[in-house]
Amino acid sequence: MNYIIIIIAILFSSISHANPYENLKTVQGISGEIQTGDEIQKYSYYGKDLKYVDKYLEIASKASIDMLENDYNLKKCKNINLEILDISMNEMNNRQVNTGPNWDGLQLNKIVGFYDSITVPGTGVIEIPNDVSKSLKAETIAHEIAHYWQDVYCFKNDYHKQFESFAIKIEDSIR
Ligand SMILES: [Zn+2]
Repeated sequence: MNYIIIIIAILFSSISHANPYENLKTVQGISGEIQTGDEIQKYSYYGKDLKYVDKYLEIASKASIDMLENDYNLKKCKNINLEILDISMNEMNNRQVNTGPNWDGLQLNKIVGFYDSITVPGTGVIEIPNDVSKSLKAETIAHEIAHYWQDVYCFKNDYHKQFESFAIKIEDSIR
């Protein structure tokens, strides 16, 4: 009988290690909704500032969808779950805790925000900072949610630059 218990425990610990972002979920997740015209995109939010975050997620989502549909003639091509981790800059940049990002590949010393839909299949994970100025926080929300919508609309581009310039344009939508 003891064997079974040990095996189950090992299985669970390997499952939890499969999602590196679980380490960063230090508060209970709450669900939020982004309303974009006639559609609603649900998300799980881990942080203490849902109202503020939700406001900018919505403004930047509308701007992103508008640009993808009207400037790029794209249509939604897939559903991706969305998780928002609202964490400190220390947690975000602690490579022992935040093991999701491919730090060596990023070639950056410090990040302010992050979007990843590769590590956890079917889920887009956004990291935003909770200890920066309100304006930088809002810009980061706008930038990262723009990457999420690029993903949902299968925004394909040969040049990484266009991926970034799109997200930078969306930052303007909240100013
Ligand atoms: Zn970016």
